[in-house]
Amino acid sequence: MTPSKVINVQPIEKREEPHPDGSLDVHSIFPTIQGEGPFVGQPAVFLRLAGCNLQCPLCDTEYTQGRLRLSVPVIFDSILDHAPPGGYRPLIVITGGEPLRQDIGPLVRFMIDKGYRVQIETNGSLYRDLPYMSGVLTIVCSPKSGKLNPDMVKRIDYYKYVVKAGDVDVYDGLPTHALDHPVARKVARPPEGFYRDRVYIQPADTQDAAENQSHLQAAIWSARHFGYTLCIQTHKIINLP
Ligand code: SF4
Repeated sequence: MTPSKVINVQPIEKREEPHPDGSLDVHSIFPTIQGEGPFVGQPAVFLRLAGCNLQCPLCDTEYTQGRLRLSVPVIFDSILDHAPPGGYRPLIVITGGEPLRQDIGPLVRFMIDKGYRVQIETNGSLYRDLPYMSGVLTIVCSPKSGKLNPDMVKRIDYYKYVVKAGDVDVYDGLPTHALDHPVARKVARPPEGFYRDRVYIQPADTQDAAENQSHLQAAIWSARHFGYTLCIQTHKIINLP
């Protein structure tokens, strides 16, 4: 979920009803080091699910092509195939696109039952029934629209905002837009009283060194003035996906 100057034209895909056999549309599965958010630096396997219910213009994530419809056990086996050597259980990150567009509840339960920690990265606009597992299931929301799903808000552990210079609200330090997604007033905020240090502020990457320096300064300003946590995309620094 990172920005570039290429305009995203991938089609909007609606929330899916659960598939009778529990299968999911998978875009890709790959190992990496988690570069963002509460588990930064930890070995992880990413499961990128296909399709998104939004179409942020500056989104440069490819989440549409080459998808495969896979069952939960096959997805889990593929994740194990990508686990790092050493026999320990890596963090499993379910992302997209928008992962909650599909019914991932059975998959999440399956992985937790096998002893894995799961992180979900969502735009927060859709709801799915997910197990309550503090410390085992972590939900990180990066809002892109003006309104979040109120049931999902109750489950969100962390928020993440991508900040561009010149697009920061001086009253709360958060961006007014997200990846240039059109919103009625401004992009959705965390609920009143939410922990400031659980809000990550990440500078936008607009593929221009001078611009990126301005975005970084804007993110630093926001973190220092409002108590948010600065988040740099570590995986890019170490050249991992
Ligand atoms: S919600 Fe995320 S994945 Fe979907 S278009 Fe926006 S940035 Fe891309």
